[in-house]
Amino acid sequence: MQDCLFCKIVKREIPADIVYEDDEVLAFNDINPQAPAHILIIPKQHIATLNDIEESDQALVGRLPYVAARLADERDIADDGYRVVMNCNDQGGQTVYHIHMHLMGGRRFTWPAG
Ligand code: 5GP
Ligand code: ZN
Repeated sequence: MQDCLFCKIVKREIPADIVYEDDEVLAFNDINPQAPAHILIIPKQHIATLNDIEESDQALVGRLPYVAARLADERDIADDGYRVVMNCNDQGGQTVYHIHMHLMGGRRFTWPAG
C-alpha cells in the first residue's frame, strides 16, 4: 500500500533496523522501544488491522508468533518469558495500520495491560 509506513519499510523506502526476513515476514526493532528487546514482526503483505484478516491469510498471520518465538529464543529471553501484543484500532492502541506483532522482553511485565 502506497502510503503505509510499514509497506515502505518492506520496500526499503524507509530505513529500519531489520533483524529477520523471509519471503513472507519482516521483523525490525521498534523505533521507540518499551523494553530492552522490542521487535515488530509484520507480514510483508499489507493487512490494515486484525479485523481485515481473511480466511486465506491464516497461515501467514500464524507465522508471526512462530517468528516471535524464534527471535525470543535467539535473544535468550524465551525461558524468562516475554510479551507479544497486537493492538487493533484506536481503542486497542493501534497507531500504524499494517498489522504487526510486538515482541517485548528483557524486563517483567504487569497484567492487565494498561
Ligand atoms: P501500534 O501502536 O500500532 O501497536 O505500534 C506501532 C509501533 O510502531 C510503535 O511501537 C512505534 O514505536 C513503532 N514505529 C512507528 N514508526 C516507526 C518507524 O518509522 N520505524 C520503526 N522501526 N518503528 C516505528
Ligand atoms: Zn502496509
